[in-house]
Amino acid sequence: ATVDDAVLAADSVRKTFGEIVAVDDCSFEIERGSITGLIGPNGAGKSTMFDCISGFYQPDAGTIRFDGTDITGLPAHKIAHEGLVRTFQITRDLAEMTVMENMMLTPKNQTGESMFHAVFNRDTIERENAEIQRDAEKLLELFQLDHVRQEYAGNLSGGQRKLLEMARMLMLEPEAMLLDEPMAGVNPTLENDIVERIEELNRQEGVTFVIVEHDMDLVMDLCDRIIVMNEGRDLAAGTPAEIQNDERVLEAYLGG
Ligand code: ADP
Ligand code: MG
Repeated sequence: ATVDDAVLAADSVRKTFGEIVAVDDCSFEIERGSITGLIGPNGAGKSTMFDCISGFYQPDAGTIRFDGTDITGLPAHKIAHEGLVRTFQITRDLAEMTVMENMMLTPKNQTGESMFHAVFNRDTIERENAEIQRDAEKLLELFQLDHVRQEYAGNLSGGQRKLLEMARMLMLEPEAMLLDEPMAGVNPTLENDIVERIEELNRQEGVTFVIVEHDMDLVMDLCDRIIVMNEGRDLAAGTPAEIQNDERVLEAYLGG
């Protein structure tokens, strides 16, 4: 099924690892401004699909369009600067840096990167750094990480690291975010926080989310639309009610 206004569209994506076909002729569209669930049994190809979309892997075939631009095969940092970011099933924060330092690593349009600016525009750099710092502080507050801002990322709980990773990627002011199992290893209190942050960012900032998540109750409750993958392919797409009543989906989960 297609959507009215697709912010992201994957068309016949394929990705193999030697003999293993991880993603096979997979197509789906993500509605702009939606919270979309990407579900399917273990090994269905969900994480690999995220890798292909976000530029961490190059697909062997197929195209990926984001906001009308063909982003197929672009490197991850280019795609991130187009406004599409992802988080990982296993977090990738820098354990030996503090929470605040992690936040300051990612910002957009840092003038300080260029030698010219470093020499001639000290005032601009200082002003920008102050702005970046303020953005970081706001996000840390939003994610209830402000009290651990000077803590090494490696000392945080699993749940806090998930929050830090989301906060860190939000420094890029993304239009869309792919979250790979954001609740895995997170305690129920933090899980509620994450859900609330996602809903807030979606409603207030219009951020589109695609979420891989195993907790079906949570997925059905949180998501506007659901895409089901099985054996590397898109199996079904629709509203939570449609997906819950889809025979093929039941079979994929029970039959595997
Ligand atoms: P999911 O996230 O839906 O559980 P994955 O995308 O992680 O599924 O994996 C899809 C298939 O591709 C699995 O069979 C997995 O073992 C395989 N796979 C994933 N990544 C690699 C890799 N880097 N090398 C070899 N096989 C991989
Ligand atoms: Mg996975």
